[in-house]
Amino acid sequence: AAKDAGRNTFQFYNDSFYEKVQRRVTLEQELRQALARHELSLVYQPTLSLRDGRVAGIEALLRWRTTAGDSRSPAEFIPIAEECGEILAIGRWVLGEACRQAREWHEQGLVFDRIAVNVSAVQLRDSQFATDVLEICARNRWPTDRLELELTESALMRDTDVLRRAFDLFSANGICLAVDDFGTGFSNLAYLHRFPVRHLKIDRSFVQQMGEGARLRGLTQAVVSLGHALGMEVVAEGVETEAILAMLREQGCDQAQGYLFTRPLEPAALGTWLRAQAG
Ligand code: C2E
Ligand code: MG
Ligand code: MG
Ligand code: MG
Repeated sequence: AAKDAGRNTFQFYNDSFYEKVQRRVTLEQELRQALARHELSLVYQPTLSLRDGRVAGIEALLRWRTTAGDSRSPAEFIPIAEECGEILAIGRWVLGEACRQAREWHEQGLVFDRIAVNVSAVQLRDSQFATDVLEICARNRWPTDRLELELTESALMRDTDVLRRAFDLFSANGICLAVDDFGTGFSNLAYLHRFPVRHLKIDRSFVQQMGEGARLRGLTQAVVSLGHALGMEVVAEGVETEAILAMLREQGCDQAQGYLFTRPLEPAALGTWLRAQAG
């Protein structure tokens, strides 16, 4: 124990804590260089309309492969990018690259409603964010009414002037908002009618448990009803089986995304997938 080690000696960490801190510092340093080293890329996963099979959205998902060849999951590095502030630069890059790719697919005649980009609470708090979004769309010649921003519940909890101004600007420009991972955040739902949310994306943990009993199916049914009562469309994420898809249809869910249709794909592969879908 620290006490036995003698006075003035601080042994407040054990090895595993030390290793965690080390790893964290290393990750943060690597992350700060990732953009300049072109280590970031995007993969894309479509969302289908359950009404007519149309490709409603294409979600951009960030991938990071270091020059040393290691792949890192966004679930691991996004929180670190948020804490060290690097998410602002990374987020701008993601938006620009997604809009550029969407434009390219559009010019190839591929058909889809919107490109969707995940936005962190830290970006949304940045007073420059909304004008950055408009500027990035303009620069990439991508119409703002064909951009969707996926926000988390926690990002929408605080009702600030910055947020209000951002949402006014989004509304005025037809930018579509989705609440991502719906059901995993806080229980105060007041934000749902305060902000112009168009889509609720039911978290995949609920979707994947649908097969496990009537009570769990009740959860997704409740989200579908809530969304519809508020005039929103409901999207199920993480759909992996035909059985789950059938249940979602029965419940009146509007759109679905998941490995059943396709995993997230590299741009060229998604282009091929879209062509096959249309043909
Ligand atoms: P998300 O936005 O909820 O994205 C859905 C995640 O579920 C993706 O994981 C996707 O690959 C995965 N997924 C899709 N369909 C299925 C399925 O049928 N089964 C299973 N098991 N998983 C499925 P991914 O790509 O690892 O991303 C994880 C999270 O990281 C995202 O969750 C999002 O919150 C965050 N993220 C990814 N890219 C960005 C980004 O550019 N910016 C920000 N701020 N966050 C991002
Ligand atoms: Mg998302
Ligand atoms: Mg999601
Ligand atoms: Mg999710």
